[in-house]
Amino acid sequence: MKLTHKLTLAFLLLSLIVIGLAVALIWGLINYEFNQYLEVQRQNEFAVAAKNYYLENRTWDGVDNYLREQQLLPPLNEVSPPPQPFVLVDTDRKVVVASAPYVVGEKVKQGMLDKGIPIESGGEVFGTVISTGQPLIRNPIEQKYVDQINRGFWLAGIVGMLVALGFGLLLARSLTRPVRDLTTATRQMAQGKLEQQVPVHSKDELGELAQAFNQMSADVARANQSRRQMTADIAHDLRNPLTVIGGYLESLKDGKLKPTPERFEVMQAEVQHLQRLVDDLRTLSLADAGELKLHLEPTSISELLERVAEAYRHQAGQQQINLKVEIEPDLPEVNLDSARVEQVLGNLLTNALRYTPEGGEISMSANQPFDGAQGEGGLVLSVKDNGSGIPPEVLPHIFERSYRGDSSRSGNESGLGLAIAKSIVELHGGNIRAESGENGSQFSIILPVQKTAEHPTEQDTL
Ligand code: ADP
Repeated sequence: MKLTHKLTLAFLLLSLIVIGLAVALIWGLINYEFNQYLEVQRQNEFAVAAKNYYLENRTWDGVDNYLREQQLLPPLNEVSPPPQPFVLVDTDRKVVVASAPYVVGEKVKQGMLDKGIPIESGGEVFGTVISTGQPLIRNPIEQKYVDQINRGFWLAGIVGMLVALGFGLLLARSLTRPVRDLTTATRQMAQGKLEQQVPVHSKDELGELAQAFNQMSADVARANQSRRQMTADIAHDLRNPLTVIGGYLESLKDGKLKPTPERFEVMQAEVQHLQRLVDDLRTLSLADAGELKLHLEPTSISELLERVAEAYRHQAGQQQINLKVEIEPDLPEVNLDSARVEQVLGNLLTNALRYTPEGGEISMSANQPFDGAQGEGGLVLSVKDNGSGIPPEVLPHIFERSYRGDSSRSGNESGLGLAIAKSIVELHGGNIRAESGENGSQFSIILPVQKTAEHPTEQDTL
């Protein structure tokens, strides 16, 4: 059964219950009130007729005949007259005009008398009309009135149901429309058309679902596109060194070129480039598969930073770039894989050196801005340069694997550096982010500081 039908049925059932209850309640109330009204009316009529008779005759004898004439009692010749709703009682509490369960002459209890309507004139009481509790028999006009009201209620009920059905159908269709849109879009995605957008009609849960779907579809499509691009670019970039090496080897084999050390160096550089590319790809695929193992050990951050800075100081000097290291004192040791973190910092420094002009400045720093004692603190390592900065349209994508075959790229760069850096930092439970403006770029690595057994915190010893 379709969701639309289920919802419609649910609405219908609900409105059936509500309308049914309302109709039954109001109908019952009207019937009750109408009967009450009739009873008071009839009892008054009965009392007035009885009073008129008494005032004229000064006795109750023969009052039953008079009431019959007034059609307030059934005629005598009726075979089995229905029980009457009222009896007449005289001042001695004796029944004058009877009906079941009373008989003529029977003495009625005072309590019953109090509930009746006294027949009086000028302060003198002649008798009382008591209700027997028998149901009133409606005359045809009254019955017709009740029937009409009845019919009106049925009609209102049916119209109400039809309106509820119509609204239910409309509502169910509009509620399930986003679901239908999503199903169609998901089928399209399954067929390979990854870029799907469904309209967002509302801000409720279904609207949120549609928005999440659109985001997912866009992400999947972009990831797929960048994977394709990356494969194409890698293939392209693998071809260049292979062409160079192949060309040299052929010429050397044919004796067209002499095997000089310079020529071997060129070939070796190309092989190294290939090697690095393959290494980077392997690191990334290991990280993807969750198989990149870290060798964690308590490490002094200041020593690590100094080591990395030392390795790049010569190159910075050659480019006349001032390489500064600023380390907050008393930083705790952190559990990390120093070789991998050095690789990340090295990549950030290489980039900074590449995008910073002569006379520029690069500063590496380490500090702990949060309260590490709680075990939630983070250690921030950052590499800041005052170079060209990253264009705003590029910034959101720099950590993606958008490998681009860039002819201007030096042999040292695979173009996957930041993607690898992100994987390694995240494996350490941290995260990496980049900020950039006209005054250069800043990359920050936030590493969690875990409470280790060797370094119990105050919290632990309490
Ligand atoms: P690659 O540097 O080989 O292109 P990366 O993944 O290391 O690959 O960097 C991705 C991109 O981020 C670079 O191509 C560059 O556009 C940008 N980038 C990274 N670091 C910096 C920086 N310090 N200054 C300016 N741009 C940068």
